[in-house]
This record gives sequence, C-alpha cells and structure tokens, in this order.
Amino acid sequence: MSLRVYNTLTREKEAFQTIEPGKVSMYLCGPTVYKPAHIGHMVGPVIFDTVKRYLTYSGYDVTFIINITDVDDKLINKAQEKGVTVKALADAMTADYMDNLQLMGVDTIDKFPYATDHIGDMLEMIQKLIDKGHAYPLNGDVYFAVTTDDDYGKLSHRSVDSMMAGTRVEANDQKRNPADFALWKSSKPGEPAWDSPWGPGRPGWHIECSAMSSKLLGDSIDIHGGGLDLMFPHHENELAQSECASGKCFVRYWMHNGLMQSGKNTGKVGGQHDRHGDSSAEDQIAGKLAGSAGAESVKTAVFAHHHPEAVRFFLLSTHYRSPIDFSSENIANTAKGLDGFYRLFENFERITGVSAYSLTVPTTREQSTSMEGLPAELARELGELRDRFLEAMDDDFNTGGAIGNLFEMRRVINGYVTQNKLEDAATPEQKAILTTAVTVLQELAQLIGVFRKPVQKSAGADDEFVAGLMGLILELRADVRREKNWAAADKIRDRLKELNVTVEDVKDGPARWSRS
Ligand SMILES: [Zn+2]
Repeated sequence: MSLRVYNTLTREKEAFQTIEPGKVSMYLCGPTVYKPAHIGHMVGPVIFDTVKRYLTYSGYDVTFIINITDVDDKLINKAQEKGVTVKALADAMTADYMDNLQLMGVDTIDKFPYATDHIGDMLEMIQKLIDKGHAYPLNGDVYFAVTTDDDYGKLSHRSVDSMMAGTRVEANDQKRNPADFALWKSSKPGEPAWDSPWGPGRPGWHIECSAMSSKLLGDSIDIHGGGLDLMFPHHENELAQSECASGKCFVRYWMHNGLMQSGKNTGKVGGQHDRHGDSSAEDQIAGKLAGSAGAESVKTAVFAHHHPEAVRFFLLSTHYRSPIDFSSENIANTAKGLDGFYRLFENFERITGVSAYSLTVPTTREQSTSMEGLPAELARELGELRDRFLEAMDDDFNTGGAIGNLFEMRRVINGYVTQNKLEDAATPEQKAILTTAVTVLQELAQLIGVFRKPVQKSAGADDEFVAGLMGLILELRADVRREKNWAAADKIRDRLKELNVTVEDVKDGPARWSRS
C-alpha cells in the first residue's frame, strides 16, 4: 500500500503526490510566544515531527517549518503588564518553547521563522492583494475583501453568507463586508509599529503565515498542518490570501490534528495560537494535570510528573485527527506500557553486552533490516508485524494502529528470549538473532521518535513514585485539615519542609507541592 493522506480540503483520504517528485514542503502554524508553552503547544510539533520522520523514511526529502509569532496583541499586552519589552518577552518564551520541543524529542524542524523578520514580505503580499483588487486600505488598516474571492470558505466549507450571520458587527463597520479581515492594523502610540504605505502599523495574524510560507517554501506547498481550531478563520484566510496573491494552489494537503480534551473541559488546547478569546480551557486542563488550580506550563504541569517520552508516546497512541483524552492517569498508563520496552532493552544489554540505544538502524524503508539468519517462525512474525506497522502509517499516519504492532513485536521478542532461556546463556548465534530482532523494533520506534536514548529509568520511575506518594500524603493532610486537626496538618507540612518539599495551600483546591 502506498501512502494516503486525509485532506481537510476535500474531506477525503487521497494518494500522496508531491508537487516536486521526492520532495515535501511542510508548514505548521507555530505559537504566539507570550507565555510559557503548555501541553497543547506540543501536540502539533510532535505529530508533524512524526509525519516528517515517516516521510523521510519513505524516501522523501522533507523541509519542515514552524513559524514563531512574535508580534501580536496578546504579546503586547503581556509585555506591558510585565514591564518588559515585547522582544524580551518573545525571546524568553521562544527559548522555553524550543526547550520543551527538545524534551519531547522534536528535532526535525528545519527552520523557525520569526514574523518580525518577514514584515517586508508581508507588506509585499498586501500590496499585491490591493493591486489585484482583493484588498483595500481603510483608515490606516488594510482589509481583505472576502467577496472578491469566489473560493472563500472552501476549506471550512462555509459560505460568506453563513459567516456573516455569525459575525458580530465590529466597531469598524466601514468595512465593505463584516467578514473582511485585517491584513494590516494601524498601531496605537507605544505599540510596536513598522512603516507601511498605509501608515505605521503591524501585520494581521493570517498574513504572517501566508507571507512566510511563500517566502521560504514557495507559492505552493505540499502539507499545511495545524490544530482543528485553526481551520477557520486562520487557515481559510491564509488560503484566500495566498491563492489570490499568487494565482496558484496554496496547499496540496491540509492536515488538521484533533484537540485535547480532559473530562468536560474540551478546548482548543491542541491548537497553536491561543488566538480566540481567553485560554481558560487549556489552563483548566493544565491545572488539573498539575493537581492544582490555574495555568501551568508544560514543564511544571506535565514534565514534573511524567517523562516526556511517555507524553510523546501517549500523544501518538491515538490517531492524530482524533481528540486527545488528556489526563495524568492516561499518561501514567502509557508510561507503564513503556516500562516493558525498557525492561526488554535492559535484558538485551545483559544478554548481548550491547546497548539497544546504540544499534545502528536503517533510516529508509528501502534499506529496511534484513531478517536473514532469523529462525523462520520469528522472521515471519516480525515481518508481518513490520508490514502491519508500515500499513498503518501509510493509512494517513495512523500512529495509534502502528504502535500496537510495537507491543506485539516486544511480546514476540520476549517469547524468543524466554523459550531459549537466553538470560541464562546465549550462543553467539542467538545473540545475533536477538540483535536483529531488536534492530527491527528500533527501526520502527525511531519513526515514532521514541527509544532513541535511554530515559533516566530510575529517575522517571522515581518521579512517578514520588508523585504518587505526595498525592497520598497531601490527601491525608487534607483529611486531617477537614477534621480541623491543625497540629497534625502543620506537622506534615513542617516535616516535608525538612525534606525540601514545599506545600502550598490553595483556596478551593488541592494543595500544591514543589521540591527545591
Ligand atoms: Zn498559520
């Protein structure tokens, strides 16, 4: 089977055919860097990092770009609130974002363009849209005229009329149509501003992505990714701007990932931009994960309790288009599943004297590990599982289906180890067989982006254990507090303090703890 990709534009799985043979250009909408990254910011990068891994393995030369939005209302407000420059805040939050990507094993991104480095490209595209009659200046702003684009709405399958029905009449009602959106916004005093033919101002959100993808990847790109929440209006508007400016097809395959949900808190957490209104849904989920109220960054809310590899594996264990049922419990379960692999790798090293993480694995499908020399039954089983893994990936990157085969492979390899009592003694031939088997497993695991280096097993497991113990202690402390046994509650807090654990009581919520 060859690769098929679900295209949001046609609502169908299509055979994957690139614009240029053997090459793939891929653009993912990145974060607005105004606060520390939360788990939702990691979803798209993990998914599309995996997509790139698989495309590369399948023989494509892939260029993958994620933009950084470093000028935006939220950023301006936050910087003012904190009394720092917009640039200082953006730089710090970008560093945090990159740091988290690294922890999640996302390392295939070729370029992170900054919006503020491409203002000139945006101005050029806006001018082109005005010249072609698709945009008009208005009191220092510039708007895209949606009615000049017959295709407007084709991605989200909405008509301009139905959009208007849902549009609030805004202050600037001089717009030709309420659905017209800003390409350029005039700036207020004190706000970051760039000179333009229409006066000082800054770009609208959508034009950033259109201008940067066209500049760096060309007018037509193969894959455009993003959270489902970005389909409208962001991607619809990107599409309209780009195609009206270039007259060419903007994107071959629109890929949208499902959003994160946690209990009844369904939200846009899988999205990248946090543009629409407040971010309470994601904050609630992050808070829930941290066992505390309020917004938490991915570092404090998630990585403090779970190893990033477990989080990555969890995110990929459902199909990317499905919603993600994010909870501490679900990640802990995933982590338990991973332990079985770590144990296999430990056994492997004991038996062969070689680290499973140091095995050289083929990086392309063409050079896939040869099963030569394996006992027929083992070769057949592993071969079938590898085929099924690749079939799942070929079916619109069904990582969830693919991962199931990794577990099966582990079972088969463990079976070989036990049946032949390799832990007692192994012949050189048996060691070679085991090495080939584990190499097959690792070849596929690299496509998911896991097992590439040893996780700090003890630390990871300890973290879980400590989190569990702390949960128990704080629960007991909450019980004694309810009984108004303040002496016991204080004793618990003070003794924890001696162990460098700080407990902080939270009004109407579970207490928080941190280790210094
Ligand atoms: Zn975008």
